[in-house]
Amino acid sequence: TVECRGIRKVYGSVEVMHDFNLKIDDHEFVVFLGPSGCGKSTMLRMIAGLEEISSGDLLIGGQRMNDRDPGDRGIAMVFQNYALYPHMSVRENIVFGLERAGVAKGAINERLAPVVEALGLGIYLSRKPTELSGGQQQRVAIARAMIKTPEVFLFDEPLSNLDAKLRGSLRVEIARLHRDLKTTSIYVTHDQLEAMTLADKIVLMKDGRIEQMGTPEEIYQSPATLFAAGFIGTPN
Ligand code: ATP
Ligand code: MG
Repeated sequence: TVECRGIRKVYGSVEVMHDFNLKIDDHEFVVFLGPSGCGKSTMLRMIAGLEEISSGDLLIGGQRMNDRDPGDRGIAMVFQNYALYPHMSVRENIVFGLERAGVAKGAINERLAPVVEALGLGIYLSRKPTELSGGQQQRVAIARAMIKTPEVFLFDEPLSNLDAKLRGSLRVEIARLHRDLKTTSIYVTHDQLEAMTLADKIVLMKDGRIEQMGTPEEIYQSPATLFAAGFIGTPN
């Protein structure tokens, strides 16, 4: 479970996230959806521990996480721009975090094999990221997150730099990995199609607040506000 209790974020004198309350069950796929600037990345980065929480509580698995290091939260994050190390091979990129954490070589190889298999990266292991397509690079970024076997996967617009066809196929892969690995996923996007196809629950956001929360069907069929109707629903 991931629980956000009254979380706020203040930059200087500006509050960009106001009283964010949300409970995410284990194995749930939750999508933060909303227009540019509504606070999706800020909220995700606070959950990841990359951004300080100004007030409120974040609990993962019932434990308060506010002051815990990112590496100690049981989470792994996939970014929009892949954020791979250009001078390292694909293999080195994937296992770097485990090596740094002191995991033994044998154990690393054991964990690498199924991850490489799941993402079809076997033939690229010795290449550099610059010798891969955008879609292949994003697969490497997902593999790097996956090998940590996180409780919670965080995705920040992981497909927005890819062309439409690749977006479609990687979206299907992300859904499959979520199901097979039985993780909990939080996925940020401003793309309503991605939200509709991936989410168990959509958290529709506007100006640092939750506008509406529900299954894709609920929001599509019964948008609570004009904004929700405009963003994903059918006007009624
Ligand atoms: P996008 O879809 O464009 O990525 P977003 O929903 O992820 O948008 P955020 O990046 O979370 O939006 O930004 C939310 C608000 O916080 C915006 O108004 C932004 O200007 C502000 N903001 C984000 N980071 C900072 C910062 N480091 N300092 C000051 N304000 C910030
Ligand atoms: Mg963002």
